[in-house]
Amino acid sequence: LAERLQDTIKKITGKGKVSEQDVKEMTREVRLALLEADVNFKVVKDLINRIKKRAVGQEVMESLTPGQQVIKVVKEELTELMGGEQSKIAVADRSPTVIMMVGLQGAGKTTTSGKLANLLRKKHNRNPMLVACDVYRPAAITQLQTLGKQLDMPVFSMGTDANPVDIAVKAIEKAKEQHRDYVIIDTAGRLHVDENLMNELIDIKDEVNPDEILLVVDAMTGQDAVNVAKSFDETLDITGVVLTKLDGDTRGGAALSIKAVTGKPIKFAGMGEKLDQLEPFHPDRMASRILGMGDVLTLIEKAQTTVDEKQARELEEKMRTMSFTFDDFLEQMAQVKKMGPLEDLISMIPGMNKVKGLKNVQIDEKQLDHIEAIVYSMTKEERQNPEIMNSSRKKRIAKGSGTTVPQVNRLLKQFNDMKKMMKQMTNMQKGKKGKGFKF
Ligand code: GDP
Ligand code: MG
Repeated sequence: LAERLQDTIKKITGKGKVSEQDVKEMTREVRLALLEADVNFKVVKDLINRIKKRAVGQEVMESLTPGQQVIKVVKEELTELMGGEQSKIAVADRSPTVIMMVGLQGAGKTTTSGKLANLLRKKHNRNPMLVACDVYRPAAITQLQTLGKQLDMPVFSMGTDANPVDIAVKAIEKAKEQHRDYVIIDTAGRLHVDENLMNELIDIKDEVNPDEILLVVDAMTGQDAVNVAKSFDETLDITGVVLTKLDGDTRGGAALSIKAVTGKPIKFAGMGEKLDQLEPFHPDRMASRILGMGDVLTLIEKAQTTVDEKQARELEEKMRTMSFTFDDFLEQMAQVKKMGPLEDLISMIPGMNKVKGLKNVQIDEKQLDHIEAIVYSMTKEERQNPEIMNSSRKKRIAKGSGTTVPQVNRLLKQFNDMKKMMKQMTNMQKGKKGKGFKF
Protein backbone atom coordinates (compact mmCIF):
# COMPACT_ATOMS: atom_id res chain seq x y z
CA LEU A 1 0.00 0.00 0.00
CA ALA A 2 2.87 2.31 0.78
CA GLU A 3 3.80 1.75 -2.83
CA ARG A 4 0.39 2.99 -3.95
CA LEU A 5 0.78 5.99 -1.75
CA GLN A 6 4.07 6.73 -3.41
CA ASP A 7 2.55 6.30 -6.84
CA THR A 8 -0.13 8.80 -5.96
CA ILE A 9 2.48 11.22 -4.74
CA LYS A 10 4.21 11.00 -8.08
CA LYS A 11 1.03 11.27 -10.07
CA ILE A 12 0.17 14.61 -8.61
CA THR A 13 2.85 16.91 -9.88
CA GLY A 14 3.63 20.29 -11.23
CA LYS A 15 1.04 22.62 -9.76
CA GLY A 16 1.58 25.83 -7.85
CA LYS A 17 -1.01 25.28 -5.16
CA VAL A 18 -2.34 22.16 -3.53
CA SER A 19 -5.80 21.72 -4.98
CA GLU A 20 -8.79 20.10 -3.36
CA GLN A 21 -8.51 17.28 -5.87
CA ASP A 22 -4.86 16.64 -4.93
CA VAL A 23 -5.77 16.45 -1.30
CA LYS A 24 -8.72 14.20 -1.99
CA GLU A 25 -6.56 11.74 -3.90
CA MET A 26 -3.81 11.83 -1.33
CA THR A 27 -5.98 11.53 1.73
CA ARG A 28 -7.78 8.57 0.27
CA GLU A 29 -4.48 6.70 0.13
CA VAL A 30 -3.33 8.03 3.48
CA ARG A 31 -6.56 6.90 5.03
CA LEU A 32 -6.06 3.36 3.75
CA ALA A 33 -2.44 3.35 4.87
CA LEU A 34 -3.46 4.40 8.38
CA LEU A 35 -6.27 1.88 8.65
CA GLU A 36 -3.97 -0.83 7.40
CA ALA A 37 -1.45 0.19 10.05
CA ASP A 38 -4.16 -0.46 12.61
CA VAL A 39 -4.98 3.09 13.53
CA ASN A 40 -8.38 3.44 15.14
CA PHE A 41 -10.93 4.55 12.51
CA LYS A 42 -12.22 7.46 14.53
CA VAL A 43 -8.70 8.72 15.00
CA VAL A 44 -8.18 8.39 11.27
CA LYS A 45 -11.34 10.33 10.51
CA ASP A 46 -10.40 13.25 12.75
CA LEU A 47 -6.91 13.27 11.37
CA ILE A 48 -7.99 13.27 7.74
CA ASN A 49 -10.32 16.18 8.41
CA ARG A 50 -7.53 18.20 9.95
CA ILE A 51 -5.20 17.33 7.11
CA LYS A 52 -7.74 18.38 4.51
CA LYS A 53 -8.28 21.71 6.19
CA ARG A 54 -4.59 22.41 6.45
CA ALA A 55 -3.43 21.14 3.08
CA VAL A 56 -5.91 22.60 0.63
CA GLY A 57 -4.71 25.80 -0.91
CA GLN A 58 -1.24 25.51 0.54
CA GLU A 59 1.55 27.00 -1.46
CA VAL A 60 3.63 24.13 -2.80
CA MET A 61 7.29 24.47 -1.92
CA GLU A 62 9.41 24.61 -5.01
CA SER A 63 11.42 21.55 -4.11
CA LEU A 64 8.35 19.42 -3.52
CA THR A 65 5.49 18.12 -5.59
CA PRO A 66 1.96 18.79 -4.35
CA GLY A 67 1.75 15.11 -3.42
CA GLN A 68 4.86 15.40 -1.29
CA GLN A 69 3.56 18.59 0.20
CA VAL A 70 0.42 16.81 1.39
CA ILE A 71 2.52 13.99 2.83
CA LYS A 72 4.54 16.57 4.69
CA VAL A 73 1.36 17.88 6.31
CA VAL A 74 0.26 14.33 7.07
CA LYS A 75 3.53 13.56 8.76
CA GLU A 76 3.47 16.72 10.81
CA GLU A 77 -0.05 15.96 11.99
CA LEU A 78 0.86 12.37 12.85
CA THR A 79 3.92 13.50 14.79
CA GLU A 80 1.89 16.08 16.64
CA LEU A 81 -0.76 13.52 17.45
CA MET A 82 1.81 11.21 18.99
CA GLY A 83 3.09 13.87 21.28
CA GLY A 84 5.42 16.05 19.25
CA GLU A 85 8.47 16.21 21.45
CA GLN A 86 9.94 13.19 23.17
CA SER A 87 8.81 12.59 26.72
CA LYS A 88 11.03 12.27 29.73
CA ILE A 89 11.06 9.99 32.74
CA ALA A 90 10.14 11.56 36.07
CA VAL A 91 12.69 12.36 38.73
CA ALA A 92 11.27 12.59 42.25
CA ASP A 93 12.24 15.50 44.48
CA ARG A 94 13.25 12.97 47.09
CA SER A 95 14.97 9.72 46.16
CA PRO A 96 14.00 7.12 45.26
CA THR A 97 11.90 7.79 42.20
CA VAL A 98 9.30 5.05 42.04
CA ILE A 99 8.24 3.60 38.69
CA MET A 100 5.43 1.10 38.54
CA MET A 101 5.17 -1.13 35.47
CA VAL A 102 1.69 -2.34 34.59
CA GLY A 103 0.11 -4.21 31.71
CA LEU A 104 -1.31 -7.48 30.50
CA GLN A 105 0.54 -10.77 30.73
CA GLY A 106 3.15 -11.19 28.03
CA ALA A 107 3.19 -7.51 27.12
CA GLY A 108 6.81 -7.24 28.21
CA LYS A 109 6.64 -5.72 31.72
CA THR A 110 9.38 -7.83 33.24
CA THR A 111 11.70 -7.49 30.27
CA THR A 112 11.05 -3.76 30.06
CA SER A 113 11.71 -3.35 33.80
CA GLY A 114 15.18 -4.78 33.24
CA LYS A 115 15.73 -2.70 30.10
CA LEU A 116 14.65 0.48 31.82
CA ALA A 117 16.92 -0.16 34.79
CA ASN A 118 19.75 -0.77 32.36
CA LEU A 119 19.01 2.43 30.45
CA LEU A 120 18.79 4.52 33.61
CA ARG A 121 22.15 3.27 34.76
CA LYS A 122 23.93 3.43 31.43
CA LYS A 123 22.57 6.71 30.09
CA HIS A 124 21.89 8.62 33.30
CA ASN A 125 24.28 7.08 35.75
CA ARG A 126 21.52 6.03 38.15
CA ASN A 127 21.50 3.00 40.41
CA PRO A 128 18.09 1.39 40.26
CA MET A 129 16.58 -1.51 42.16
CA LEU A 130 14.12 -3.97 40.64
CA VAL A 131 11.14 -5.24 42.63
CA ALA A 132 9.33 -8.54 42.02
CA CYS A 133 5.65 -7.93 42.73
CA ASP A 134 4.30 -10.61 40.41
CA VAL A 135 3.69 -13.22 43.10
CA TYR A 136 1.36 -15.49 41.20
CA ARG A 137 3.92 -17.40 39.21
CA PRO A 138 7.22 -18.48 40.78
CA ALA A 139 8.70 -18.29 37.30
CA ALA A 140 7.97 -14.57 37.17
CA ILE A 141 10.21 -13.90 40.16
CA THR A 142 12.95 -16.13 38.80
CA GLN A 143 12.74 -14.31 35.48
CA LEU A 144 13.33 -10.95 37.11
CA GLN A 145 16.14 -12.36 39.25
CA THR A 146 17.81 -13.73 36.17
CA LEU A 147 17.61 -10.32 34.52
CA GLY A 148 19.03 -8.78 37.70
CA LYS A 149 21.99 -11.16 37.57
CA GLN A 150 22.64 -10.38 33.91
CA LEU A 151 22.61 -6.69 34.69
CA ASP A 152 24.35 -7.02 38.03
CA MET A 153 21.43 -5.13 39.52
CA PRO A 154 19.70 -5.84 42.87
CA VAL A 155 16.28 -7.50 42.74
CA PHE A 156 14.03 -7.17 45.78
CA SER A 157 11.74 -10.15 46.34
CA MET A 158 9.78 -11.71 49.20
CA GLY A 159 8.76 -14.90 47.44
CA THR A 160 5.30 -15.89 46.29
CA ASP A 161 3.55 -15.81 49.67
CA ALA A 162 3.86 -12.12 50.42
CA ASN A 163 1.35 -9.47 49.50
CA PRO A 164 2.37 -7.30 46.52
CA VAL A 165 1.59 -4.10 48.42
CA ASP A 166 3.85 -5.14 51.31
CA ILE A 167 6.60 -6.08 48.90
CA ALA A 168 6.47 -2.69 47.23
CA VAL A 169 6.54 -0.83 50.57
CA LYS A 170 9.44 -2.88 51.94
CA ALA A 171 11.33 -2.51 48.68
CA ILE A 172 11.19 1.26 48.88
CA GLU A 173 12.44 1.21 52.47
CA LYS A 174 15.31 -0.98 51.39
CA ALA A 175 16.09 1.27 48.45
CA LYS A 176 16.36 4.24 50.83
CA GLU A 177 18.75 2.32 53.07
CA GLN A 178 20.91 1.40 50.10
CA HIS A 179 20.73 4.83 48.52
CA ARG A 180 19.11 3.54 45.37
CA ASP A 181 17.65 6.39 43.36
CA TYR A 182 15.13 4.45 41.25
CA VAL A 183 12.77 1.67 42.24
CA ILE A 184 11.18 -0.20 39.37
CA ILE A 185 8.20 -2.29 40.40
CA ASP A 186 7.36 -5.22 38.13
CA THR A 187 3.72 -6.14 38.71
CA ALA A 188 1.57 -9.10 37.73
CA GLY A 189 -0.47 -9.18 34.55
CA ARG A 190 -3.50 -11.12 33.41
CA LEU A 191 -4.51 -12.31 30.01
CA HIS A 192 -7.35 -9.79 30.00
CA VAL A 193 -8.19 -6.71 31.96
CA ASP A 194 -9.99 -7.89 35.10
CA GLU A 195 -11.18 -6.42 38.33
CA ASN A 196 -8.93 -8.39 40.66
CA LEU A 197 -5.87 -7.27 38.82
CA MET A 198 -6.99 -3.66 38.73
CA ASN A 199 -7.78 -3.65 42.45
CA GLU A 200 -4.36 -5.00 43.28
CA LEU A 201 -2.71 -2.35 41.15
CA ILE A 202 -4.82 0.38 42.72
CA ASP A 203 -3.75 -0.84 46.17
CA ILE A 204 -0.09 -0.69 45.23
CA LYS A 205 -0.54 2.72 43.70
CA ASP A 206 -2.35 4.15 46.73
CA GLU A 207 0.28 2.81 49.10
CA VAL A 208 3.51 3.76 47.35
CA ASN A 209 2.36 6.76 45.32
CA PRO A 210 4.57 6.11 42.27
CA ASP A 211 6.13 8.95 40.31
CA GLU A 212 5.50 7.09 37.08
CA ILE A 213 2.98 4.44 36.16
CA LEU A 214 4.11 3.05 32.83
CA LEU A 215 1.72 0.90 30.89
CA VAL A 216 3.53 -1.70 28.83
CA VAL A 217 1.69 -2.55 25.61
CA ASP A 218 2.49 -5.09 22.94
CA ALA A 219 2.49 -3.23 19.62
CA MET A 220 1.59 -6.43 17.80
CA THR A 221 -1.86 -6.54 19.39
CA GLY A 222 -3.10 -3.64 17.29
CA GLN A 223 -6.57 -2.39 18.09
CA ASP A 224 -6.77 -4.43 21.30
CA ALA A 225 -3.90 -2.41 22.65
CA VAL A 226 -6.05 0.69 22.45
CA ASN A 227 -8.84 -0.79 24.56
CA VAL A 228 -6.32 -2.10 27.07
CA ALA A 229 -4.70 1.32 27.31
CA LYS A 230 -8.06 2.95 27.79
CA SER A 231 -9.10 0.78 30.72
CA PHE A 232 -5.72 0.90 32.45
CA ASP A 233 -5.70 4.65 32.13
CA GLU A 234 -9.23 5.05 33.43
CA THR A 235 -8.42 2.94 36.48
CA LEU A 236 -4.86 3.96 37.27
CA ASP A 237 -4.32 7.31 35.56
CA ILE A 238 -1.10 6.13 33.96
CA THR A 239 1.70 8.60 33.26
CA GLY A 240 2.99 7.05 30.06
CA VAL A 241 3.19 4.07 27.76
CA VAL A 242 5.95 1.72 26.66
CA LEU A 243 5.27 0.14 23.29
CA THR A 244 7.07 -3.20 22.99
CA LYS A 245 7.87 -5.54 20.10
CA LEU A 246 8.23 -2.79 17.59
CA ASP A 247 11.04 -4.86 16.12
CA GLY A 248 8.35 -7.05 14.57
CA ASP A 249 6.73 -6.19 11.29
CA THR A 250 3.79 -4.36 12.78
CA ARG A 251 3.41 -0.86 11.43
CA GLY A 252 2.55 0.33 14.91
CA GLY A 253 -0.61 2.25 14.21
CA ALA A 254 -1.69 1.39 17.73
CA ALA A 255 0.82 3.94 18.97
CA LEU A 256 -1.12 6.67 17.28
CA SER A 257 -4.48 5.58 18.62
CA ILE A 258 -3.21 5.05 22.16
CA LYS A 259 -1.98 8.60 22.41
CA ALA A 260 -5.12 9.94 20.80
CA VAL A 261 -7.46 7.94 23.04
CA THR A 262 -5.68 8.27 26.41
CA GLY A 263 -3.82 11.51 25.88
CA LYS A 264 -0.82 9.88 27.57
CA PRO A 265 2.58 10.01 25.91
CA ILE A 266 4.44 7.00 24.61
CA LYS A 267 7.77 7.27 26.33
CA PHE A 268 9.74 4.23 25.20
CA ALA A 269 9.82 1.71 22.41
CA GLY A 270 10.92 -1.91 22.88
CA MET A 271 12.97 -2.96 19.87
CA GLY A 272 13.90 -6.54 20.73
CA GLU A 273 14.31 -9.08 23.49
CA LYS A 274 17.79 -8.00 24.52
CA LEU A 275 18.34 -5.78 27.53
CA ASP A 276 19.76 -2.89 25.56
CA GLN A 277 16.89 -2.82 23.10
CA LEU A 278 14.80 -0.09 24.65
CA GLU A 279 14.77 3.32 23.02
CA PRO A 280 13.18 6.65 23.77
CA PHE A 281 10.09 6.95 21.62
CA HIS A 282 10.46 9.25 18.60
CA PRO A 283 7.07 10.44 17.35
CA ASP A 284 8.47 11.60 14.03
CA ARG A 285 10.15 8.28 13.29
CA MET A 286 6.97 6.50 14.25
CA ALA A 287 4.99 8.70 11.89
CA SER A 288 7.26 7.64 9.03
CA ARG A 289 6.89 4.04 9.99
CA ILE A 290 3.11 4.21 10.16
CA LEU A 291 3.00 5.80 6.73
CA GLY A 292 5.36 3.08 5.57
CA MET A 293 7.64 5.43 3.70
CA GLY A 294 10.40 6.39 6.07
CA ASP A 295 13.15 7.18 3.65
CA VAL A 296 11.01 9.24 1.33
CA LEU A 297 9.98 11.43 4.24
CA THR A 298 13.54 11.89 5.36
CA LEU A 299 14.41 12.90 1.87
CA ILE A 300 11.55 15.37 1.69
CA GLU A 301 12.80 16.95 4.88
CA LYS A 302 16.37 17.13 3.71
CA ALA A 303 15.34 18.54 0.38
CA GLN A 304 13.19 21.20 1.89
CA THR A 305 15.65 22.34 4.51
CA THR A 306 18.86 22.32 2.55
CA VAL A 307 18.39 22.68 -1.15
CA ASP A 308 17.53 26.07 -2.37
CA GLU A 309 14.16 25.40 -3.89
CA LYS A 310 14.57 27.32 -7.09
CA GLN A 311 17.97 25.87 -7.78
CA ALA A 312 16.61 22.39 -7.28
CA ARG A 313 13.91 23.00 -9.81
CA GLU A 314 16.37 24.44 -12.32
CA LEU A 315 18.70 21.55 -11.80
CA GLU A 316 15.91 19.12 -12.40
CA GLU A 317 15.15 20.88 -15.64
CA LYS A 318 18.78 20.67 -16.66
CA MET A 319 18.91 17.01 -15.81
CA ARG A 320 15.98 16.46 -18.05
CA THR A 321 17.41 18.38 -20.96
CA MET A 322 20.96 17.19 -20.29
CA SER A 323 22.35 20.68 -20.42
CA PHE A 324 24.22 20.05 -17.21
CA THR A 325 27.50 21.95 -17.15
CA PHE A 326 30.48 22.45 -14.89
CA ASP A 327 28.86 25.60 -13.52
CA ASP A 328 25.97 23.46 -12.35
CA PHE A 329 28.46 20.96 -11.07
CA LEU A 330 29.99 23.64 -8.85
CA GLU A 331 26.62 24.74 -7.59
CA GLN A 332 25.63 21.16 -7.01
CA MET A 333 28.78 20.60 -5.06
CA ALA A 334 28.02 23.51 -2.78
CA GLN A 335 24.58 22.02 -2.15
CA VAL A 336 26.10 18.64 -1.49
CA LYS A 337 28.43 20.15 1.08
CA LYS A 338 25.45 21.64 2.87
CA MET A 339 23.50 18.43 2.74
CA GLY A 340 26.07 16.04 4.13
CA PRO A 341 27.66 13.03 2.50
CA LEU A 342 26.45 12.53 -1.03
CA GLU A 343 26.31 8.77 -0.62
CA ASP A 344 23.93 9.07 2.32
CA LEU A 345 21.62 11.19 0.32
CA ILE A 346 21.70 9.04 -2.76
CA SER A 347 21.16 5.87 -0.79
CA MET A 348 17.90 7.29 0.50
CA ILE A 349 16.40 7.57 -2.94
CA PRO A 350 14.29 4.49 -3.62
CA GLY A 351 15.73 2.36 -6.38
CA MET A 352 18.96 4.33 -6.42
CA ASN A 353 21.08 1.41 -5.31
CA LYS A 354 20.29 -0.21 -8.64
CA VAL A 355 21.83 2.59 -10.66
CA LYS A 356 25.10 1.61 -12.23
CA GLY A 357 28.12 3.84 -12.12
CA LEU A 358 27.20 5.23 -8.76
CA LYS A 359 30.47 4.22 -7.16
CA ASN A 360 32.42 6.45 -9.52
CA VAL A 361 30.64 9.57 -8.42
CA GLN A 362 31.33 9.14 -4.75
CA ILE A 363 33.13 12.29 -3.88
CA ASP A 364 35.72 12.50 -1.19
CA GLU A 365 34.74 15.63 0.67
CA LYS A 366 38.36 16.55 1.23
CA GLN A 367 38.80 16.69 -2.51
CA LEU A 368 36.01 19.17 -2.98
CA ASP A 369 38.38 22.12 -2.69
CA HIS A 370 40.64 20.70 -5.39
CA ILE A 371 37.67 20.17 -7.61
CA GLU A 372 36.50 23.69 -7.12
CA ALA A 373 39.94 25.03 -7.97
CA ILE A 374 40.00 23.02 -11.17
CA VAL A 375 36.58 24.21 -12.27
CA TYR A 376 37.44 27.81 -11.48
CA SER A 377 40.51 27.50 -13.72
CA MET A 378 38.35 26.60 -16.69
CA THR A 379 37.20 29.22 -19.13
CA LYS A 380 33.55 29.98 -19.36
CA GLU A 381 33.40 28.10 -22.62
CA GLU A 382 35.06 25.04 -21.15
CA ARG A 383 32.62 24.99 -18.29
CA GLN A 384 29.66 25.12 -20.59
CA ASN A 385 31.04 22.65 -23.16
CA PRO A 386 33.40 20.21 -21.49
CA GLU A 387 33.64 18.29 -24.77
CA ILE A 388 36.13 20.82 -26.15
CA MET A 389 38.67 19.82 -23.55
CA ASN A 390 42.02 18.79 -25.10
CA SER A 391 45.46 18.16 -23.69
CA SER A 392 46.72 21.75 -23.91
CA ARG A 393 43.59 23.00 -22.18
CA LYS A 394 44.02 20.34 -19.51
CA LYS A 395 47.63 21.35 -18.96
CA ARG A 396 46.64 24.99 -18.59
CA ILE A 397 43.88 24.14 -16.13
CA ALA A 398 46.14 21.91 -14.04
CA LYS A 399 48.69 24.69 -13.82
CA GLY A 400 46.11 27.31 -12.99
CA SER A 401 44.54 25.25 -10.22
CA GLY A 402 47.74 23.94 -8.71
CA THR A 403 46.80 20.36 -9.57
CA THR A 404 47.99 17.79 -12.10
CA VAL A 405 46.66 16.64 -15.45
CA PRO A 406 45.64 13.24 -14.03
CA GLN A 407 43.61 15.09 -11.40
CA VAL A 408 41.92 17.12 -14.10
CA ASN A 409 41.23 13.94 -16.05
CA ARG A 410 39.75 12.30 -13.01
CA LEU A 411 37.39 15.18 -12.49
CA LEU A 412 36.32 15.11 -16.12
CA LYS A 413 35.58 11.43 -15.75
CA GLN A 414 33.60 12.01 -12.57
CA PHE A 415 31.67 14.72 -14.30
CA ASN A 416 30.78 12.42 -17.16
CA ASP A 417 29.79 9.65 -14.79
CA MET A 418 27.57 12.04 -12.93
CA LYS A 419 25.98 13.11 -16.15
CA LYS A 420 25.38 9.51 -17.10
CA MET A 421 23.87 8.81 -13.72
CA MET A 422 21.56 11.73 -14.07
CA LYS A 423 20.45 10.45 -17.40
CA GLN A 424 19.62 7.14 -15.81
CA MET A 425 17.75 8.91 -13.07
CA THR A 426 15.69 10.95 -15.45
CA ASN A 427 14.89 7.88 -17.50
CA MET A 428 13.73 6.14 -14.38
CA GLN A 429 11.46 8.99 -13.55
CA LYS A 430 9.97 8.92 -17.00
CA GLY A 431 9.37 5.17 -16.93
CA LYS A 432 5.95 4.42 -15.53
CA LYS A 433 7.12 1.47 -13.48
CA GLY A 434 10.34 3.12 -12.38
CA LYS A 435 10.77 3.79 -8.71
CA GLY A 436 12.72 6.96 -9.21
CA PHE A 437 12.24 9.81 -6.86
CA LYS A 438 11.36 13.24 -8.08
CA PHE A 439 13.39 15.99 -6.49
P1 GDP B 1 5.31 -9.70 31.01
O1 GDP B 1 4.42 -10.87 31.16
O2 GDP B 1 4.54 -8.45 30.72
O3 GDP B 1 6.25 -9.52 32.17
O4 GDP B 1 6.20 -9.95 29.71
P2 GDP B 1 7.71 -10.43 29.59
O5 GDP B 1 8.63 -9.32 29.99
O6 GDP B 1 7.90 -11.72 30.29
O7 GDP B 1 7.84 -10.60 28.01
C1 GDP B 1 7.07 -11.54 27.28
C2 GDP B 1 7.86 -11.96 26.05
O8 GDP B 1 8.00 -10.86 25.17
C3 GDP B 1 9.26 -12.40 26.37
O9 GDP B 1 9.56 -13.51 25.58
C4 GDP B 1 10.12 -11.23 25.97
O10 GDP B 1 11.41 -11.62 25.60
C5 GDP B 1 9.34 -10.66 24.83
N1 GDP B 1 9.58 -9.23 24.62
C6 GDP B 1 9.45 -8.20 25.48
N2 GDP B 1 9.74 -7.02 24.91
C7 GDP B 1 10.06 -7.28 23.63
C8 GDP B 1 10.43 -6.47 22.50
O11 GDP B 1 10.54 -5.23 22.54
N3 GDP B 1 10.68 -7.14 21.33
C9 GDP B 1 10.57 -8.50 21.24
N4 GDP B 1 10.82 -9.06 20.06
N5 GDP B 1 10.21 -9.28 22.26
C10 GDP B 1 9.96 -8.69 23.44
MG1 MG C 1 6.30 -10.52 33.95
